[in-house]
Amino acid sequence: MERKTSVLVAGAGIVGLCTAWYLARAGAAVTIVDRAGPGEGTSSGNAGAISAGSVAPLAMPGVLRDVPKMLLDPKGALHIPARYWPVAFPWLWQFVRAAAPERVERIAAALALLLRGAEDCHLEILEAEGAADIISRNGQLYLYRDDAHLAKDDASWKLRRQHGLEMQVLRRAGIMELEPGVAETYNRGVFLPKQSHSLNPLRQARVVARGIERMGGKVRKGNVTALIREGDRITGAMVDGAPEHADHVVLAAGAWSHRLLDAIGIKVPLESQRGYHVMLTDPGVMPRRPVIPADRKAFITPMEEGLRVAGTVEFGGTEAPPNPRRAALLLEDLARVYPQADTRAQKPFWMGHRPCLPDSLPVVGPVASRPGLWCAFGHGHLGLTGSAPTGRLLASFMLGPKPNLDISPLGVERFA
Ligand SMILES: Cc1cc2nc3c(=O)[nH]c(=O)nc-3n(C[C@H](O)[C@H](O)[C@H](O)COP(=O)(O)OP(=O)(O)OC[C@H]3O[C@@H](n4cnc5c(N)ncnc54)[C@H](O)[C@@H]3O)c2cc1C
Repeated sequence: MERKTSVLVAGAGIVGLCTAWYLARAGAAVTIVDRAGPGEGTSSGNAGAISAGSVAPLAMPGVLRDVPKMLLDPKGALHIPARYWPVAFPWLWQFVRAAAPERVERIAAALALLLRGAEDCHLEILEAEGAADIISRNGQLYLYRDDAHLAKDDASWKLRRQHGLEMQVLRRAGIMELEPGVAETYNRGVFLPKQSHSLNPLRQARVVARGIERMGGKVRKGNVTALIREGDRITGAMVDGAPEHADHVVLAAGAWSHRLLDAIGIKVPLESQRGYHVMLTDPGVMPRRPVIPADRKAFITPMEEGLRVAGTVEFGGTEAPPNPRRAALLLEDLARVYPQADTRAQKPFWMGHRPCLPDSLPVVGPVASRPGLWCAFGHGHLGLTGSAPTGRLLASFMLGPKPNLDISPLGVERFA
């Protein structure tokens, strides 16, 4: 009998899980290892939006004008504590440089290449596992106060439209038709009929994990402390102090991925953008789709277990404790859109680490200088969306048939 190709996936967030799922389906002998349970990290608490059309990078031309304003507002959607400035500054400098118009075009093209068909990939996995009901296909609704407010995002919407995003600009009556409870402050909307959302990101991750096991893969708990190197080749990883060998290793450890790369001499400017959510179990309002007040960049998402309000960006690293004041701001965001919402019944607030590179692109693909090593991390604000297409792409590059696509813009080599 032919020996199966063995693959060790480090990190069982939604990116590692979807990658392991596609690898197992393609016939590999897969082991996925995480120090926590599948999907219990950042991937459990996101806003659930599956946004294949979100190809505009976070750093758009003009970002240098907007960021200082956001930072000076103590209630702004972006917060960097003073102690973290020296760490954040080099990253922010690269972020600002990525906003040059010609780079923005290239980044959008690379994101479009990765995210194309994202929803189909999610459905492909979930249908195979009998759980397609997790995806709700009612679109997404962005809210603006007026035309001037909407005009501020013109460039970003234009870029998304160029890459095929279907969108409808709505007046107040159109907003009311879709979401009757929205406050009068919001008179313009952008409705994205083809974008969807997950009704339960943690359940989704667990379903994918079950699918890996169904196909004979192993889902294990363990701490990956180092990659094993024989010459240039990566031949496995140390898991809880013991060597675990494999033909290929996929690094999918979210905001912690750079630590394992650092030790083999590869530097990547990966930074955690800490985000929060609050979950209301009996809010008295329940939109049919994610509603996003554009001024606050918060997502108000209807989920199986209640109404989730998720957002805010806070720098501060992976070790500092959560900041309850950031979570409390999300309730203010909700009150702006739904003043009538009842916020008494709440689950404890949650914080997670978006793994972010300054050019808004993840690192996906083989590492040329270290045969056997593959990267699948750094999906930032779009990790749920990008997880399934990343898995499909990586599995076909690793096990064939190799697609005729240039994924070099996503390579780790771009930071060399
Ligand atoms: C508030 C918020 C809202 C968001 N909303 C959306 C959204 O609406 N749509 C969207 O597409 N994305 C969204 N995101 C982004 C998305 O959640 C992340 O990009 C995604 O979850 C990242 O997945 P991941 O698998 O790379 O990382 P993670 O989910 O963090 O998984 C990485 C895993 O690696 C494990 N790990 C790390 N180091 C080791 C080690 N040494 N050994 C063993 N295990 C290790 C961790 O335990 C963790 O389980 C949001 C994020 C936040 C914070």
